[in-house]
Amino acid sequence: MPDDCDPLDGVRPGGARSFWLRETLAGELPELAADVAAPRLTGAARADIAILGGGYTGLWTALRLTELVPGARIVILEADICGGGASGRNGGFVTGWWDELPALITRFGDREAVRIARAVDEAVETIGTWSAANGVDAAYRHQGFLQVSAAPAQDGVWTEAVEACERLGVADRWHLLTSDEVGARVRSPVFREGAFMPGAATVQPAALARGLRRVALERGVVVHERTRAHGLGRGRALGPGSVTIATSSADGDGTLLDHSMVVYGSAIADGNKHTHEGLPVLLAGGGGGGLKTGRHVVYEKQPLTNLYLTLLDRMGVHPETIGDSTGRIEHLDV
Ligand SMILES: Cc1cc2nc3c(=O)[nH]c(=O)nc-3n(C[C@H](O)[C@H](O)[C@H](O)COP(=O)(O)OP(=O)(O)OC[C@H]3O[C@@H](n4cnc5c(N)ncnc54)[C@H](O)[C@@H]3O)c2cc1C
Repeated sequence: MPDDCDPLDGVRPGGARSFWLRETLAGELPELAADVAAPRLTGAARADIAILGGGYTGLWTALRLTELVPGARIVILEADICGGGASGRNGGFVTGWWDELPALITRFGDREAVRIARAVDEAVETIGTWSAANGVDAAYRHQGFLQVSAAPAQDGVWTEAVEACERLGVADRWHLLTSDEVGARVRSPVFREGAFMPGAATVQPAALARGLRRVALERGVVVHERTRAHGLGRGRALGPGSVTIATSSADGDGTLLDHSMVVYGSAIADGNKHTHEGLPVLLAGGGGGGLKTGRHVVYEKQPLTNLYLTLLDRMGVHPETIGDSTGRIEHLDV
């Protein structure tokens, strides 16, 4: 229950629900309640595709799979309720990537950078058209993204990206606003100049997450909320009350993990500084025997794509380069 005496209740991370999620749950039909539409998983269940986590990633994936593999039994296991994680408590900014263009150009070149940013624009629009087509009222507003400076040190932080847009013939996607133009949109005495991206929107994030859940249920996706997965294996029971995702893949001797390569990490080493160097990367799985695990290895400065290139080699795929890669990583298997 919300605590009306606590001004931070629902905002503080942890067990409390976000304002967005509370608002959405309050308006949800009784037949969509967790116990009715998405009961806990008890006992054994079969699925062609099991998805862990009912946030945007899991729900969009499930929905897309209903189109790609019609008739497949798709099951989502969600430890909390769908939208209980970041998807139901984020800022709701659905922004394009034109302000990221210089970094995209460095990694992928002019053409690919523009193609990627255009694809993100399409994705931003698709959220709106999909919501309208499926009766999801996620308060979608496709009215752009305004960045402003409020101090001289912030003036022009967008210049490089704006100039890149101009050079590549997409000046309309991210362009400068004078202080008068900023003032015409938001009249604040501290705002100075700014930049504007028309291909951006906002949503009520939890309404989107719960809307995705409703449509997934309507399309026959089975959702089990309050069901935490504790392990991945081939039918091994992990103990009373636990959920094991059993697979039927033909992976020979060893566990599924012995035959997998899972990369988990962050693109930022220090969240306070947006540092993109010295990234913590967890590589799990034995890669079918190709990887030596159980150790901490520190590499000299090199692009992360070198790791991906090396892992692709292990899969029998040998592209010369990917993105900004400069070569292969050594000592993964010794
Ligand atoms: C404060 C904040 C503000 C943000 N603002 C923005 C923004 O304005 N714009 C933007 O684009 N992005 C924003 N983001 C990022 C965005 O919210 C996330 O990228 C997105 O929601 C991730 O979706 P997801 O489905 O991958 O993860 P989640 O929404 O976190 O979903 C993962 C789900 O997995 C479940 N789960 C975890 N472990 C298990 C398990 N073992 N078994 C079963 N289920 C499990 C969790 O309960 C959770 O529901 C923000 C994030 C935060 C935290």
